[in-house]
Amino acid sequence: MSDCVFCRIVAGTAPATKVHEDDTLCAFLDIRPIARGHTLVVPKTHAAELDELDPELGAHLFRAGHRLALAMRRGALAADGANLVLNDGRAAFQTVPHIHLHVIPRKHGDRLAFAKGFLLRRPHDPVGTAAAITEGLAALDRPNLDSEGTAS
Ligand code: 5GP
Ligand code: ZN
Repeated sequence: MSDCVFCRIVAGTAPATKVHEDDTLCAFLDIRPIARGHTLVVPKTHAAELDELDPELGAHLFRAGHRLALAMRRGALAADGANLVLNDGRAAFQTVPHIHLHVIPRKHGDRLAFAKGFLLRRPHDPVGTAAAITEGLAALDRPNLDSEGTAS
């Protein structure tokens, strides 16, 4: 849909800092992040709300969000947790009518910083932030080595 900003990001005709992409979904940094690393995962096929989304694609979207949350723990963002949130419909405060899963990294004791981020919504070094997430994703693909170098 040419009048949908997330479709334009998927198509590469609107700018965004992408952190992951496959045949059916795309993940990019939120332009007004609540916290550094705040990422949106969107299906490549336009679906405004959950009732238009193929459930298998919805499951794939969540799997990608799950993996991004783990990557945020592993990489330089050093998250301790994450909020995974999907606002379905205007009644639920959805503002962009193309389904998206928010993945927002959290740290222990970040309540004040999170509240401030919620109010200010300022971007944080998108290039460095994206690199921290893609490094975390790459780390998930590497085997864990114990102190003797044995893979687990
Ligand atoms: P919602 O309230 O619909 O769940 O969240 C929409 C999110 O999309 C917001 O967090 C907002 O900052 C983000 N957003 C809106 N327009 C753009 C855009 O053009 N590019 C990016 N990267 N994010 C956007
Ligand atoms: Zn769209």
